[in-house]
Amino acid sequence: MRTIYGTILTAALVAFASMSALAWGHGHLTVARETLKHLPGEWGDRLRDGEGGKVFLSASHAPDDQKTLLADRAEYVDKTLLARLTPPNGKTPVMYRFHAADARCELIFAMSRAMRSGNEKALGFLMGCFNHSVADTVAANHSPLIQLAIYNWKVLGLSDDMEDDCAMLDKSPERKAVLSRVATAACANISSKNLVPQAVFDAAYADQLAGPDFYCLDRDFCAGGDAAVNAFAQEAAYAVRRTVEAFLAAESFSRLPEDPVFDKALTSNATGTWR
Ligand SMILES: [Zn+2]
Repeated sequence: MRTIYGTILTAALVAFASMSALAWGHGHLTVARETLKHLPGEWGDRLRDGEGGKVFLSASHAPDDQKTLLADRAEYVDKTLLARLTPPNGKTPVMYRFHAADARCELIFAMSRAMRSGNEKALGFLMGCFNHSVADTVAANHSPLIQLAIYNWKVLGLSDDMEDDCAMLDKSPERKAVLSRVATAACANISSKNLVPQAVFDAAYADQLAGPDFYCLDRDFCAGGDAAVNAFAQEAAYAVRRTVEAFLAAESFSRLPEDPVFDKALTSNATGTWR
């Protein structure tokens, strides 16, 4: 008993120590590709037709690469974004910073500035970071239980066969069709009345707390088969939808003469505690 407990405890510690470093692997690209298809309007076309879309797809992995905001991507990070994400000790923030809700909100502002200045590569990069981060917040494999299992198959004596990455949706035309259908339905529900700035920012904070709503997806994910395909498609579609909403918010901000005011205090008081 002590041995089993010790093994599980060790596994848990390894899992939680790894949590900040590991994420969906190729699945981020699956989500980003689907997102690119759903970006509306002129900017959507510009990204799909130009270099911005390519930067977007490659940046869909960027927040996990452990580099700083300035390492080989300084051209995409403007002074305002860097200043707002730099902590009081002045240390250059790392890309992992984008996993936090306030940084996702700053990404929306930075996206709007990139649109205003017509910098489509910067827009692609910033959107890739947003897409990655929002996908991680709802990923079944990031819930503590699944995280524990995934990164400790052998220690826990579990099967290696379980699919644990959204990239499983790319493995057959049927699965791709499920993702496309679910993502299209999710984006069809985007209502322009929900796109006032504060609502988009509140949604960024809500994502941070979304975990408990996704436990049913954990169950389906473990069940395998069609249930798992549908669960992954729903998670991917959630990230697609959130990114499209952020993109539309950024586009509306880009038509203003300057950044709108973001009431962080209101947002964090509304959803930032469990009380
Ligand atoms: Zn990640």
